[in-house]
Order: sequence, then structure tokens, then C-alpha cells
Amino acid sequence: MNAFIPIQPAPSQGCTDVVPLVERGQREVFCGLTGIIWLHRKIQDAFFLVVGSRTCAHLIQSAAGVMIFAEPRFATAIIDERDLAGLADANDELDKVVNQLLARRPEIKLLFLVGSCPSEVIKLDLSRAASRLSALHSPQVRVLNYSGSGIETTFTQGEDACLASMVPTLPAQPADAAAELLLVGTLADVVEDQFMRLFTEMGIDRVRFFPPRRADDQAPIGPNTRLLLAQPFLGDTARVLQGRGATLLSAPFPLGIEGTTAWLKAAADAFEVAPERFEAAIAAPVARAHASLSRARTQLEGKSIFFFPDSQLEIPLARFLSREMGMTLLEVGTPYLHRQHLARELALLPSTTSISEGQDVEKQLDRCRRMAPDMVVCGLGLANPLESEGMTTKWAIELVFTPIQGFDQAGDLAELFARPLVRRTRLAA
Ligand code: SF4
Repeated sequence: MNAFIPIQPAPSQGCTDVVPLVERGQREVFCGLTGIIWLHRKIQDAFFLVVGSRTCAHLIQSAAGVMIFAEPRFATAIIDERDLAGLADANDELDKVVNQLLARRPEIKLLFLVGSCPSEVIKLDLSRAASRLSALHSPQVRVLNYSGSGIETTFTQGEDACLASMVPTLPAQPADAAAELLLVGTLADVVEDQFMRLFTEMGIDRVRFFPPRRADDQAPIGPNTRLLLAQPFLGDTARVLQGRGATLLSAPFPLGIEGTTAWLKAAADAFEVAPERFEAAIAAPVARAHASLSRARTQLEGKSIFFFPDSQLEIPLARFLSREMGMTLLEVGTPYLHRQHLARELALLPSTTSISEGQDVEKQLDRCRRMAPDMVVCGLGLANPLESEGMTTKWAIELVFTPIQGFDQAGDLAELFARPLVRRTRLAA
């Protein structure tokens, strides 16, 4: 067994210069409100108030309902017919709702006003509302706003918009501050703890996570901040952090052994960790990960896979499934192709990979049926119809809700893909 998988792009640089098939037609994706489901669990003293319709309330409740064990930290301020008809002052109504909420829930330290399609249609200015309410309730509560609307978005953009809205409130780093590593993107607590242990073993001790678990744990930002993206869908957040002077480290994403090794190595190189110390720190988890991948590899090797665009995780997942699981990539669809953030990933994909950006769902369904893949990764709306046609599907959203990053989750990640194939085989038997 090798201790490491060599991180070497193919001589052709894989898909670095790929010209994707760009489609702008009907899309089948969830809206950015969906991000509230994992964000409210991460920032434990934040509250998400959606300013939207009953449809928005139903979406959030049905997506999160089964996970509620205590009073939820999200709700919807319903825009009703009177607001839409201009008969009521929506700002007055919103102030009333916020004042009642904060009086009843003193544990809230950070309140997000989350815009939706209806609030955008009636042009409700939530940024002014957030400033007004912040002035009223600070310093106990900060009020921020972002849009989770489904107009021209896919569901992971909700997290990007949320994190980007927090950046202007982060303090400035003192000019003489030591270099600090900022890991950007929501990770499960257990994954954060594993990464923290690895960084400590490498001797990198100035590490912070964004978003933080507590609203008042605000990372200072400045030229000595080194950014490492934990999620590939954070284009706006990275841009505003770079605008505050932070430096973005180029890395693939921490999925599978290869991605996690290269991601950690980007941090190790930025903090001048000796190669021997880096290798010693990761040796044991890499060995565990190799062992955990072997069973799923037997089931996945040689199987073909087709990705519909949904979570924006598609390209890192395709890289993992192709290089570590031996799967054949038929089409890798992504809602948006961020070439700079995905540069290291694209270089690792087979140069023959067919990549598409955006969606024209009927045309894509035709291509998928023609190719008859062994597995399809898609949104919930497409999964059931495709299953009824005999295809094996994997819900893209499950890959965002489940801890899949890091060495100790590599086996779980592979199993997420192996399980539907095993189930299909059993049904056919
Ligand atoms: S924000 Fe728009 S797409 Fe999302 S649930 Fe509300 S109405 Fe639907």
C-alpha cells in the first residue's frame, strides 16, 4: 500500500483548457434558501429570518422539519397579499416581527434577513432594513442580509451569499499580526476537529474557520490571512475576503485521499512546514483512508457516471470518482464553472471529460438517456423519473448535507456512490 497518491496532473494538464458545453435553458435546481438548513446548525447563535412567501416557508420546513429537536433558528416573515398590493408598509411589518423575535429569543446574537423571489419582486430593500435594525439592536445583535432567491441561482449559492454578507463586519488584522490560516466554507464540526488536529501536528496553530460556530468569534482579516477554500462554491466570499487583503491558496478540494492531501499540502507549503513533518502528520489517516476505500472501489471501478448540474461539487467529485475509484466520466455538468477556483481540479480530470456549464434540462436528459450511464447524480426533481426509467441515481443534495471531506470521511464518500448500485443489483436479483 502506498502512503501517498502522487499529486501530479497528467502531462496534458487534464481539462485545464476545456471548452465546456454552455447551456442556458430550463433548470432543475433548488434555490439558495436551502443553505439555511446547514448554516443554522453551524452558527449556533444565529437566526435566519426569510422574508418570503408561504412557498418559501414550506420549502424550508419540509427540508429541515425532520431535523428539528429544539425551537428552530429559522422562520419566515410572510409577505402577504396586502404587502404585494402595497396596502401595508412592509418595512413596518418587518420591524414588528424582528422586535418580537429578538424580545422572545435573547440568545440570538446574529440575525440574517434572507431575501427571496417575492421580496425581490416587490423590491423590498433588505440591506436598508438590516442597517436600520442593526442600529436599533446592536451591540447585542448584529443584523445582516443576503439573498436566497431562486432567480438565477443554484442552492449552494445561498451559503456563498451568506458568508459574503458577514465579511464587511470582520475586524481588520493588525499590520504586525502573524500569518493566520482561514478555512472558508461550512464543514461538519467533526471534520473541522479532524483538520484542526492535523494542522496542530504540522505545527500550524493559528487556524480559524469561517463561518465560525459562534457569531462573536470574528476572524481578523488582512494581508497576513491565508485563505483555503473548503467548498468550491464560494466565489463571492473569496472575492470580498481577497478585497480585504487576504491571499487565496490554490488547491483542489478535500475530497478523497488525493484531494485532501493536496489541500492540506497547500496550507503546509504556505506555512513552511517541512515535508517530513507533513508526511508524518498525514501518514496514519491516509493509511486508514486507503483501507476504507477498497470495498467501494470493487463496486465502482469500471462503472460510468453522468452528473447533472446542481451542487457545484460536481467537478471535485468527478475527479475523486475517476482517479481514486476508477469510474468513467460521461458528462460532468456544473451550474457555474469557476476556472480560477477549480484550476487544480480541472488539471486532474481526464482530458477527454465532457464538461457542461448551465442547463437545458430536456437536451441534457436526452444526452443522458443516449449514454445510458451506470449512475446519475442529479437533483431530487429528476431522480424519481430517472429511477422509474431504470437508471440508478444519487441525490446531489445529500453530498452537501453529509460530512464527506477529509481522510476519515473518504470511505463514507465512496459508499454514498456504491450504495445505490448495490441496491439496484439486489432489486434486479
Ligand atoms: S425563494 Fe423563490 S424559489 Fe425559493 S422557495 Fe421562495 S419563491 Fe421558491
